[in-house]
Amino acid sequence: MKHTTHWIGGKPWTGGPAAHRGDVYNPATGQVSGTVDFASAAEVSAAVQAAAAAFPGWRATSLVRRAGVMFAFRELVRARQADIAALISAEHGKVASDAAGEVARGQEVVEFACGIPHLLKGGFSENVSTGVDAYSIRQPLGVVAGITPFNFPAMVAMWMFPLAIACGNTFVLKPSEKDPSASLLLAELLAEAGLPDGVFNVVHGGKEAVDALLADPEVRAVSFVGSTPVARYVWETGAAAGKRVQALGGAKNHMVVLPDADLDLAADAAVSAGFGSAGERCMAISVLVAVDPVGDELVAKIAERVARLRVGPGNDERSEMGPLVTAAHRDKVASYLDSGVREGAVLAIDGRDHPVTGGAADGFWLGPSVLDHVTPPMSCYADEIFGPVLSVVRAPTYANALQVINGNPYGNGTAIFTNDGGAARRFTSEVEVGMVGINVPIPVPMAFYSFGGWKSSLFGDTHVHGTEGVHFYTRGKAVTSRWLDPSHGGVNLGFPVNR
Ligand code: NAD
Repeated sequence: MKHTTHWIGGKPWTGGPAAHRGDVYNPATGQVSGTVDFASAAEVSAAVQAAAAAFPGWRATSLVRRAGVMFAFRELVRARQADIAALISAEHGKVASDAAGEVARGQEVVEFACGIPHLLKGGFSENVSTGVDAYSIRQPLGVVAGITPFNFPAMVAMWMFPLAIACGNTFVLKPSEKDPSASLLLAELLAEAGLPDGVFNVVHGGKEAVDALLADPEVRAVSFVGSTPVARYVWETGAAAGKRVQALGGAKNHMVVLPDADLDLAADAAVSAGFGSAGERCMAISVLVAVDPVGDELVAKIAERVARLRVGPGNDERSEMGPLVTAAHRDKVASYLDSGVREGAVLAIDGRDHPVTGGAADGFWLGPSVLDHVTPPMSCYADEIFGPVLSVVRAPTYANALQVINGNPYGNGTAIFTNDGGAARRFTSEVEVGMVGINVPIPVPMAFYSFGGWKSSLFGDTHVHGTEGVHFYTRGKAVTSRWLDPSHGGVNLGFPVNR
């Protein structure tokens, strides 16, 4: 039985046995595969203190050296991609190729962080007033924390710590207790890349660990990614304690298909984006908005494709979709199939009947499902299901489709499928969602842009990575300087005006 503990001060925690531990499951077998320590407030404090002690030295480390650590880390992540992916697959359940894709997308943020000397360049204006120069610099905050969800155990952490650390901060990561192992391999690789002890720390656990991070005055900023209720709580609690907080929440991502769209392309996209990673992606398409008259044809094309999907264990190369993360989550997701039908939807595809190839009977299986004729008041529409259930809403017009999306409380991602550039342009402008795809179903921005939703999908005003990430992990300072020359002189009590 594998045992996972914290990583504090550059090594696994040796401060004694944990008072609480959680079970970690292999979702493909349904069996407990290991245990993870849950940090107490004292253990979280030890991690924060290690990070605080490492901060003065790390912030004084030159930009070139910090970038050098990131370059080395990037090579190690690349070399160990399959190992990181295997850990993810074993605890999360997603298929190995999908897990490798998550590592690759995380690695792109490391590559962005390698450019930190350029990203931290300030502005300089010579002679803003006679003999006076002005410039701006950005400085690290100190200890910052990252709290991450189960669905991307490597990538979401890598949205955060590479930039935070490259900016000169020290970091405490609190990963999901459901799949804690990948974070520790990343910690080992950072150490191997030459990161000084204490700059990156990991504490495991749940609410107690999160609350300890939010209460610790040494923690200056918190990046959170998870469900909306917890995101709101972290944002409110952290902000009340004077911290800078960015808290990314849940999602309900709509894909609009206009009548002129290529329906085969749209059906491929809906199936890929709806059922990839068993729908446990914050950018998964969970609602298809079919604008009349394409609904019937589109649902038929989706059904053909879904029938061919191979569901099975993540470590089996034949599998395209793995199990769900826990039995409780699988049961909750499946309950929406019944409630949807009770509330008037049509269960066009019932994933409970989908064959599982090579999977143990006790695995947390649920095949891909489609609920058709869904309307906004139904709970299967209103709630974030976060599983392999695609809801199809029929919309009479483009205007009606837009109204549905803009009326939804979430605003993470959305997509439009059309061959009409004007319609796509109008949608891009009018839709109240943070990330938009045009004939692209999962429009996850590249590392050099910023990732984040609107409305209940993000609390705070700064998105992650890209230049907004650099801003989040630094604070600006404006400097006005005058080096006296022989022409100086005179006391002046007036307000400084520029001449
Ligand atoms: P979650 O909110 O249950 O957990 C997220 C983190 O918060 C975990 O580290 C967990 O230990 C901690 N946590 C859980 N309950 C807590 C509480 N009451 N108080 C304090 N901390 C608590 O989310 P999850 O189930 O791990 O992940 C799935 C959710 O994350 C979905 O809602 C999904 O949409 C969202 N998500 C959003 C994005 C995004 O970019 N917006 C990305 C990935 C996942």
